[in-house]
Amino acid sequence: MPNAAAHLPFYYGSISRVDAEEHLKLAGMADGLFLLRQCFRNLGGYVLSMVHKLQFYHYPIERQMNGTYAIAGGKAHCGPEELCEFYSKDADGLCCTLRKPCNRPSSLEPQPGIFDNIRENMVREYIRQTWNLEGETLELAIISQAPQVEKLLATTAHEKLPWYHGAITRELAESRLYSGAQPDGKFLMRQKTEKGAYALSLIYGKTVYHYLIKQDKAGKYSVEEGTKFDTLWQLVEYLKLKPDGLIYYLKESTPNPEMPTAAVAPAPPAHPSGFGQGPRRFASQNSDGYTPEPIGLGNKTRILPMDTLCYESPYSDPEELKNRKLFLKRSNLIVDEVELGSGNFGCVKRGVYRMKKKQIDVAIKMLKSGNERAERDDMMKEAQIMHQLDNPHIVRVIGVCEAEALMLVMEMASGGPLNKFLNAKKDEIPVSNVVELMHQVAIGMKYLEEKNFVHRDLAARNVLLVNQHYAKISDFGLSKALAADDSYYMAKTTGKWPLKWYAPECILFRKFSSKSDVWSYGITMWEAFSYGQKPYKKMKGPEVMTFIEEGKRMEIPPRCPPEMYKLMQTCWTFKWEDRPDFVTVETLIRTYYYSIAARTEETLEERVQITPA
Ligand code: ADP
Ligand code: MG
Repeated sequence: MPNAAAHLPFYYGSISRVDAEEHLKLAGMADGLFLLRQCFRNLGGYVLSMVHKLQFYHYPIERQMNGTYAIAGGKAHCGPEELCEFYSKDADGLCCTLRKPCNRPSSLEPQPGIFDNIRENMVREYIRQTWNLEGETLELAIISQAPQVEKLLATTAHEKLPWYHGAITRELAESRLYSGAQPDGKFLMRQKTEKGAYALSLIYGKTVYHYLIKQDKAGKYSVEEGTKFDTLWQLVEYLKLKPDGLIYYLKESTPNPEMPTAAVAPAPPAHPSGFGQGPRRFASQNSDGYTPEPIGLGNKTRILPMDTLCYESPYSDPEELKNRKLFLKRSNLIVDEVELGSGNFGCVKRGVYRMKKKQIDVAIKMLKSGNERAERDDMMKEAQIMHQLDNPHIVRVIGVCEAEALMLVMEMASGGPLNKFLNAKKDEIPVSNVVELMHQVAIGMKYLEEKNFVHRDLAARNVLLVNQHYAKISDFGLSKALAADDSYYMAKTTGKWPLKWYAPECILFRKFSSKSDVWSYGITMWEAFSYGQKPYKKMKGPEVMTFIEEGKRMEIPPRCPPEMYKLMQTCWTFKWEDRPDFVTVETLIRTYYYSIAARTEETLEERVQITPA
């Protein structure tokens, strides 16, 4: 699970009890001085270390099955932060209230635990092998999907680890262990017929010993009465370090002969929707050529962005890239009558574009006939900007086609604009889903910032959804590519501008930069967390400017987590020099996203409700 305490300044990661006491000593041993560290035994658990009357106290905080956190015998809380907040007001059985956080020195990062590294590698390998991704695309998939993939891994990772032999008999287990060399600590794990029970078979002194692994009511695994773990692979890793009641510690595994590749690096577990290794895409095309992209809730197996056909560019295949041209042949394009949307330029229709090896769903922006030269130029400019961009969270252009009209052919994002989607589904979409989508928008914007492009029209209406968990930035009609040594674009004249989304320097000086996109990102966040409300209610564009200059800002939307409102407010820093850039914004929202992904949706919603708006 992602670490729900990673962002806390008094969280030290995986440090020992002795080290914790050392930090508390250095910080002065005041009554109520406290810190938080990782619990070695249960995934997502912590220990609260504190001082009272010059004595140390250590309280384990367990993460329960429903995602809440509690000190044994105490009340449940939705996160470690909330738990600490609670105990700072009420000792409720502790030696005293928490009074002063013992913060980490600024040079000290939280110490990664033994499982953190293994987990990170597993996530990386799983994504690499399941979706066949490499390089930057792999890194982006890790950043945006780590919490989802970790959830998958937590429950199924052991199935693909070499020491796991599935449901074999005790006799077969013994014969596998006795074959070949028989060093002490050689082991395997097998499944018992009893549900949720496993056995660990281990050689010591040329004899095989069998231990029963049981799951308790909370779903945690342990050997007999030993240390409990959330997953089997953690239990095994722990028993490699400490026998913990076994006759010997685990050393080398007997690889399962039925496993195709008993690799050293953990191979990915089977994807719940049935994919194994290799590039597999979830969507298959049906007869009319459209790719069904299930959207909405009720789908048990969540479709990850990497499962869709538009995660990577259709030109990521070198064979397709060979034939790439900006101008597309009309004969390869089928334009459907279905209208997806419309604007001043004309309308957007859906269609199919035939490539060398595949057909893809496309959205086609058609220029109205009788259009003027300027509008044609604008559409060509939009195409040229988009042509230079390639990121999973940005709508890609396939090309342009000149026929019955000038057409801009783009990847299809069939879920439509974010504001409309959220407004229609406000009762079904949890806040964590909104955070996830806005994090993806931040990933796309970070990419634009790095490439030195300014969007100039970032708004919830221009964030399109591929599905409920996959967002892409679109509408590059106002966008500009900055010269390498420029940090802003100066508009010659004002135009038909989305004033409510614009930063003060855009309106006052016609100056546009990635920093002014950050302001618009803040407004987009506000729209998203208010589930598609219009910003600044009844105010007119120019009134908004006065409102901002008076130092006023929009209020927190009812269901918006305070952390996300805080981020919006920093995006609305008046002076662009003091405003964060997208590198910072993405890190901030990512940290929050990971911290809530460790909780259940229910506890998050509960917390949001009790937070005064
Ligand atoms: P405008 O410049 O007029 O705002 P947009 O590029 O935002 O034009 O497109 C207008 C509408 O067309 C969008 O709100 C959306 O409903 C639809 N649309 C545009 N691009 C796509 C796409 N790639 N996939 C699906 N629908 C799209
Ligand atoms: Mg638009």
